Amino acid sequence: MANSKYEYVKSFESEDEVMLPNLILVRIDGRDFSRFSQVHEFEKPNDEAALNLMNSCSAALLEEFPDIIFAYGYSDEYSFVFKKTSRFYQRRASKILSLVASFFAAVYVTKWKEFFPQRKLEYAPSFTSQVVSCASPEVLQAYLAWRQQDCHANNQYETCFWMLVKSGKTITETQELLKDTQKQQKNELLFQKFGINYKTLPELFRQGSCLFKTKEREELLQKRGEELLKTREEC
Ligand code: ATP
Ligand code: ATP
Ligand code: MG
Ligand code: MG
Ligand code: MG
Repeated sequence: MANSKYEYVKSFESEDEVMLPNLILVRIDGRDFSRFSQVHEFEKPNDEAALNLMNSCSAALLEEFPDIIFAYGYSDEYSFVFKKTSRFYQRRASKILSLVASFFAAVYVTKWKEFFPQRKLEYAPSFTSQVVSCASPEVLQAYLAWRQQDCHANNQYETCFWMLVKSGKTITETQELLKDTQKQQKNELLFQKFGINYKTLPELFRQGSCLFKTKEREELLQKRGEELLKTREEC
């Protein structure tokens, strides 16, 4: 109801526009996926089907929201970068992050069967999401390097952890063994104990995944948007 006497409450809404020229970036992360991966019997340390499902959801997100031009993710997280000039939802952080997380979760559930045809989805997964306002391309670059470093460090730890547990060590013993170990020591442990050369493990596990729109594809989507607008106007 426009101009109602109650409308003043609108002024209590928080102002959360991501100001230009900052870049809008959204990161989603699965809520308690330690449990979710256990309940759904994900292969440890890396369940390939689960990673492919995450990647497929991100591809669907890029399709749904033309302003997202780049995505990077691993494990239960994904970061989405919007184009510089985006005016999506007046650049309001809460609108954008809620849309991204809810759409991602909905697609995750919809696509579950495609990636886990034999496994029942036991409960609805949910994702937290936050907006990171990137002041410059350099900040974006540092952000992505940070996430990729996290992917690498986590994966190296988890690979050692699960190899030791699978070889018969208890969880406490394994944690104790890995405590304070450096990158090089973990590589040596994997090689000496299990004959694994860490560098030869799949890139999907070691480095994560990225998706981006090529210029042509962006133009195509833009065109499609224009056509949609035209048909709307004609209606
Ligand atoms: P939070 O709610 O704080 O995010 P979390 O349990 O999700 O808690 P994360 O740090 O996000 O904690 O870690 C995600 C966990 O999900 C990993 O530790 C890993 O055990 C599990 N996981 C996610 N994806 C996979 C996968 N593809 N294969 C195996 N395990 C996975
Ligand atoms: P926006 O993305 O801006 O919210 P919207 O189309 O969702 O766009 P709303 O103002 O939220 O716009 O209105 C929701 C619309 O959804 C209503 O106009 C109505 O047509 C439809 N709708 C929602 N729930 C029902 C329902 N239970 N039965 C019939 N129609 C519904
Ligand atoms: Mg998580
Ligand atoms: Mg995570
Ligand atoms: Mg609505």
